[in-house]
Amino acid sequence: MAGRPLQLEFVTSAPTLRDLPDSASDVAVVGRSNVGKSSLINALANRKQLAAVSGTPGRTRLLNAFRLAEGPEPRPVLVDLPGYGYAKVPKAVRDTWGPMIEEYLTGREQLAMVVVLLDGEVGPTTSDLELLDWLRHEALPHSVVATKHDKVKSSRRDRRRRELAADCDLEPRDVLWVSATKGVNIDLLRERVRTWLLG
Ligand code: GDP
Repeated sequence: MAGRPLQLEFVTSAPTLRDLPDSASDVAVVGRSNVGKSSLINALANRKQLAAVSGTPGRTRLLNAFRLAEGPEPRPVLVDLPGYGYAKVPKAVRDTWGPMIEEYLTGREQLAMVVVLLDGEVGPTTSDLELLDWLRHEALPHSVVATKHDKVKSSRRDRRRRELAADCDLEPRDVLWVSATKGVNIDLLRERVRTWLLG
């Protein structure tokens, strides 16, 4: 069935790459705090509280692994990477995030895709653009997904879509714009994530 929910189960919150479970392949989801990452993971799985929405203490700074209930053993894993650019976090803590994310992204051999989330209402931030530049530089496979489609008036969406893509140096068709709240393009993203996870 097209676009059926991804059956994901929480496995662990890992402080380092070494603490992650083995997997046949990974899809990583990354974005700044508040971009809508937890809401989106919940929507992909059609579960209300699979990923913590808005900052459950502790888990937001770790690599959160969710196992897909299908595919070859060791089954594929979706990894929810810590959100970046959260001002309330002390700088000393913030400084460990970059190396942690970098260690995972460059060290996980089975990484099939990095899903980069951008706030579709706000547009890409400097941190988002730096991350995209770095992913291109490292030649890591990545795909841009914009969130909060429902927050932009329908009369402004076409223009907004073109702006979002241009800001990222991409074609409009290369940015999938979704809404976790309204379910926009969630089916399509489920299918894409399933394909990346199952190869
Ligand atoms: P995270 O910090 O990236 O995990 O973001 P959350 O999923 O916690 O979402 C941050 C805020 O944005 C919350 O208030 C959500 O309710 C809201 N949000 C997330 N996705 C959407 C969406 O698709 N539409 C709207 N209108 N709000 C959203």
